[in-house]
Amino acid sequence: MLPTSLLRTASLAAALFLCAAGVPAQTTTAAHGVRPARLIIRNATVVDGNGTPAKGPYDIVMEGNTITQMVALDPVAMKGGRARRPVAGAAGAEIDATGKYVLPGLIDVHAHLQDERGGIPQPIEYEMKIWLACGITAVRDVGSDTKKALAWRDSSNRGAMVSPTIFVYPMFGRPTNADSARAHVRELKAMGADGIKLLGIDRDIMQVTEDEAHKLGLRIAHHVGVEETNAWDDIHFGTTSIEHWYGIPDAAIPDGVQNFPASYNYNNETDRFRWAGHLWREADPKRLDMVLDSMVARHVAWVPTFDIYEASRDLQRAQTQPWFKDYLHPTLEQYFKPDPANHGSYFFGWTSTDETFWKENYRIWMNAVREFARKGGLVGAGDDAGFIYQMYGFGLIRELELHQEAGFNPIKVIQHATYNNARILGKESELGRVRPGYRADLIVVNGNPLANLKVLYPTGVDDIRDGKVVHTGGVEWTIKDGIPYNGPTLMREVKEMVAKARAERGTDQPR
Ligand SMILES: [Zn+2]
Repeated sequence: MLPTSLLRTASLAAALFLCAAGVPAQTTTAAHGVRPARLIIRNATVVDGNGTPAKGPYDIVMEGNTITQMVALDPVAMKGGRARRPVAGAAGAEIDATGKYVLPGLIDVHAHLQDERGGIPQPIEYEMKIWLACGITAVRDVGSDTKKALAWRDSSNRGAMVSPTIFVYPMFGRPTNADSARAHVRELKAMGADGIKLLGIDRDIMQVTEDEAHKLGLRIAHHVGVEETNAWDDIHFGTTSIEHWYGIPDAAIPDGVQNFPASYNYNNETDRFRWAGHLWREADPKRLDMVLDSMVARHVAWVPTFDIYEASRDLQRAQTQPWFKDYLHPTLEQYFKPDPANHGSYFFGWTSTDETFWKENYRIWMNAVREFARKGGLVGAGDDAGFIYQMYGFGLIRELELHQEAGFNPIKVIQHATYNNARILGKESELGRVRPGYRADLIVVNGNPLANLKVLYPTGVDDIRDGKVVHTGGVEWTIKDGIPYNGPTLMREVKEMVAKARAERGTDQPR
């Protein structure tokens, strides 16, 4: 016979935990957009963001906006009696992840907050909802309307806006002297910027800007074009991440300048993108190796944004992506059409020869990114969507496919978009992991992304089961800051938004 005190303890324990074999007595399925006091994802296979293999199953407990517990349910843990299943409680909710994969929420470190394109309005909810439906729980905005971006960031942090967490890196502009550059860095810091985005900057201004930013603890993202500065300046001045790629091969050209035709004009975008397709082949492999080694030694990360140039190597693919039919907003559709006045809409007379050079360009570029990672370099993932036929969210998933094409194991690809991106943001102790103590930013995926990254697309994939075609895939739940969002619900809302905008503008279908 047991003493009463022990019996009381035992029944208390039974109330808090169900035994390993037990099925939870009652479950409340998570409600879209409502943060429960306690949220449990049950029976999930986990792919963490730190580059380790899939493992599971686990019950994952979140309280408020924090992951608090992971209970292993594998046979060894069950046999050892450690697998006491947690319960959600009266104010709690659950998500059944049996047969599903749970990953850290994806982070897009090269995003632009866009509520217009080419001066035509586009509701910000459109971008936000697609991002969440694609499993994106945080974005680094690298250039938009700074005041609006800061307001959206704060609203998202309060839970007042359906949105990923936003980090704002305002576009720095082109101060004319050192004093105004330093003053501008201080001004952005005072406004509450999380970092700074550099583009088209001269060397002396870049040096003082980075110096001032380092003093104030602001990180630097640099779109390094074919300009006065190249990757050597990022290495010397302490850039956090190189965006895109141009300044890397440019730093490895023996004569210091690409072999442009005499008629080349950098401000003509058709010229610029056409000849960019010849840039990697002019980089000297030995010099390139030194550039990559130096980037690694000085902790300069690389966010290649492969996806945003894909139209250059395969224009037809880019123009006919299947999700355009239901989800391409007419504003974005209009913006994508070739127009010399819209950045990135440069496809005039694009030839098979252009595409062939670009295909070679990608092969050298992808090898360089893989080599950089092998040397210990930090590779991140961002999509730069809203330009050149790339839709928000879908662009990041395509980016992940291209990282796989570059030769990375899908486990590493997921690491690029989660923990590596968190490191680029300086948030690696809060974001990018499925680990107790980390932010409750998780996604529940209907399928195994290690077998097929395409399961992450909200439009899903077709599979064969028992001889029948089954439509499956998609991110079923995106949990941001402890708030669960149902992916299919978000995409229904996006589809309605697009249909309404098309009806108003008299365009039924994308042309
Ligand atoms: Zn960009």
